[in-house]
Amino acid sequence: MPDIRQVCKSVVGSSLNVLFPSFCPGCGRHIPDAKFLCEHCYSALPPMPENYCRSCGTSTDRPIEECGSCHYEIERPDRAFFPFLYRNPLSNLIVRFKFSDRTEWSENLTNLLLSRVGAQLLEEEPDMVIPVPLHPLRLLRRGYNQAALLAGRVARKIHRPLVTNLLYRTKMTRPQTSLNQKSRLVNVHDAFVVGKAAIENRRILLVDDVFTTGSTVWSATRALKEAGAGRVMICCLARVEY
Ligand SMILES: [Zn+2]
Ligand SMILES: [Zn+2]
Repeated sequence: MPDIRQVCKSVVGSSLNVLFPSFCPGCGRHIPDAKFLCEHCYSALPPMPENYCRSCGTSTDRPIEECGSCHYEIERPDRAFFPFLYRNPLSNLIVRFKFSDRTEWSENLTNLLLSRVGAQLLEEEPDMVIPVPLHPLRLLRRGYNQAALLAGRVARKIHRPLVTNLLYRTKMTRPQTSLNQKSRLVNVHDAFVVGKAAIENRRILLVDDVFTTGSTVWSATRALKEAGAGRVMICCLARVEY
C-alpha cells in the first residue's frame, strides 16, 4: 500500500509545479523539478582545467603549487581555489547575480562552488572566512555585496566564522575590466586596510565571485599579510581565462 504521506507530497509537488513552473536561469527551459539548472546547463558548466598554478590559476603544463611569477610576489595568496572558468552559462548567471538583484541564487551558486572545492576548503581548516569587500559607496548603490552573500553561505557550510569587520575597502576603484594591466595594478594599490581584530598567524579564506585580473585579490592579500595573517587562501566562483 502506498505511503499516504508520499502520495500527498507528490500531489502537492505536482500542483505547485503546475501553478509555479520552474525555469532554468541558464537557458530558460522548463525544468520539472526544483533543481537550479537544467541537465544541459549543469553539464555545460565550464570546469577549471587540471593544470594550473595553485596560487594564481594561470594555465600551466602540469599542476604546480607556484608559478615563477607567484614565487617572487609576497602579495599572492598561498592557495587559490577556482571551481569554474568564467564562461557561459555561468558568466551570465554571475552577471545577473551581481548586477540584477538575483540574490536568491546565492545558495545555489554556493552549492555549485562547494560541489567542486568544498572538501579542499575544509582540508585547509581556515580560522575565518572573509568576503572581498566593496567600497561603502558602491555597496550603497548596489545594496548588497555579492561576495559577502557567497562567503556567508560558504562559512556556514564549512562551519567557520564569517568575519566582515576586519578588511575594508578604502579606495573607490574603477572596474578592472576597463583598464590595461598596468593601470589595474595602480587602480587597486593600497585599496584595502585591515581593522584591529587579531589575525596574527591566522588562516584566512577570502571569498569573491569572480577572479578577473588578480589585482584586487592581490591587494587584499597584501593588506592581510602585512597585518600578520599566517596563510591567505582565496576562493572565487569563477576565473577569467588569460
Ligand atoms: Zn538550462
Ligand atoms: Zn601563479
